[in-house]
Amino acid sequence: MRRIEFDYRVLTRTNDVRHLCSRIQRTTDKNGNRIRDFAVILDITERKRLEGDLRAQASTDPLTGVSNRRSLESAARREVERARRYAKPFATIAIDIDHFKRVNDTYGHDIGDIVLKGMTQTCLEGLRVTDVLARMGGEEFAVLLPETDITAATLLAERLRIAVEAKPIVTVKGSISITISLGVAAFAPNEPTIEAAMKRADESLYEAKRSGRNRVIVAKLPSLVRTTGSGR
Ligand code: GH3
Ligand code: MG
Ligand code: MG
Repeated sequence: MRRIEFDYRVLTRTNDVRHLCSRIQRTTDKNGNRIRDFAVILDITERKRLEGDLRAQASTDPLTGVSNRRSLESAARREVERARRYAKPFATIAIDIDHFKRVNDTYGHDIGDIVLKGMTQTCLEGLRVTDVLARMGGEEFAVLLPETDITAATLLAERLRIAVEAKPIVTVKGSISITISLGVAAFAPNEPTIEAAMKRADESLYEAKRSGRNRVIVAKLPSLVRTTGSGR
């Protein structure tokens, strides 16, 4: 007796996709030749949908709908592999909203949440589909930029800074203007993991905070070299 099991998709006459699972019990003779098959076909569409939902929930930030830290870290591991194998550049940006506590204190936490969502949308509009925007926690975000060198990453960071500054977030308590500080770092192909590059991006971000906020600071191996943007 042999058990054979395989999943597949079918398109119904009404153009719905259904996931099916065929389970076959095969009876064979002593030479392994098939005598008969007993097959059951199960509709596993609902199970597949739930599995997909759970996977998405595990990798998504519930408030903003962008990736969570865990998802960014696994994307970063894949990118490290690719960067090594194909000698491709890639870069990362650390983002933190300036004086966000004031937004909560002035308008309340619920409005703060709307501002977080609005800022996420503004950033998404400036990114490619292959870029990964993640909420790392609180009002801190990171972007992973595949196949992007430090020059392109810096231009993009500056574009994001300008876009957020230029687009107040509309709420029931009025339009709220915010700014962001950003730290940019490139991954060096000889680095074993992304952690060091993310740490450089974070250090640059804090340098941006210290030097006045609403600005981009670029980390170059091994020290910080360039500043753009205008402080407040
Ligand atoms: P800085 O410019 O130095 O970054 O100042 P800041 O006020 O943005 O920084 P701080 O770390 O002092 O405050 C961050 C605030 O973000 C405090 C916390 O209440 C708020 N916060 C964190 N997570 C959330 C959230 O999910 N929703 C809302 N509304 N607020 C949040
Ligand atoms: Mg902040
Ligand atoms: Mg913060």
